Amino acid sequence: MNLLLYGAPGSGKGTQANMLRSRFSIPHIATGDMLRAEIQAGTELGRKAQPILAEGKYVSDDIMIGIIRNRLRQPDCEPGFIIDGFPRTVPQAEALDALVDELGKGIDRVIYLKVPVDQLLHRLSGRLVCPTCQRTYPPGTAACESDGSALVQREDDKPEAVRPRIEIYLEKTVPVLDHYDVEGLVSEIDGRGTIEEISRQVLEAVGPNGTAPAKAAKRTT
Ligand code: ADP
Repeated sequence: MNLLLYGAPGSGKGTQANMLRSRFSIPHIATGDMLRAEIQAGTELGRKAQPILAEGKYVSDDIMIGIIRNRLRQPDCEPGFIIDGFPRTVPQAEALDALVDELGKGIDRVIYLKVPVDQLLHRLSGRLVCPTCQRTYPPGTAACESDGSALVQREDDKPEAVRPRIEIYLEKTVPVLDHYDVEGLVSEIDGRGTIEEISRQVLEAVGPNGTAPAKAAKRTT
């Protein structure tokens, strides 16, 4: 089962990706986490990416396509994968089409978590994250429930980076949805309910083994 999680920053992709990963035992490929790991490790890519992430802008398509190309070729992706944070531009979507084709695979479903912009701004400003497992928490939470780590604020969740992230999403990433919509691959889910309710709808869209038949696209925008 090859899935894409699609949604604005703060729409809950990471939370649902974690649920899907434990349910189906397939890797969760989060390009933002991969970039942050490069920054942490001080690699050349990390040094290049750090100021871009801090400003809420996008890393170049060439770099991102290269990262995904290497990752999807790893043997753990053989049974399937959940990609979160890619493709974020139409050229990235076109490159992913070519890549999955080359690998003899396809994209089975695009899960779109839809959240209104005012809620995204509210969720992102002040959100805290566990530096160990990347789980996110509301402002004021002291420590990670899973591993006890002290929570931190992501550099790009600081107020000056939040708005640019939403703006670039609206400009560059919203058109990606149309790319998959034409193929009838998009399942739109209201991302405003409880985590459990959203997970239930995600699982329904994906089917028990990731085999839910493609429904007619039910987009409201
Ligand atoms: P969010 O979805 O909350 O914005 P992510 O952790 O997915 O956060 O990504 C953080 C940052 O990493 C993005 O704002 C961007 O700078 C960079 N990034 C991640 N994936 C991509 C991509 N596919 N193309 C360009 N930049 C990316």
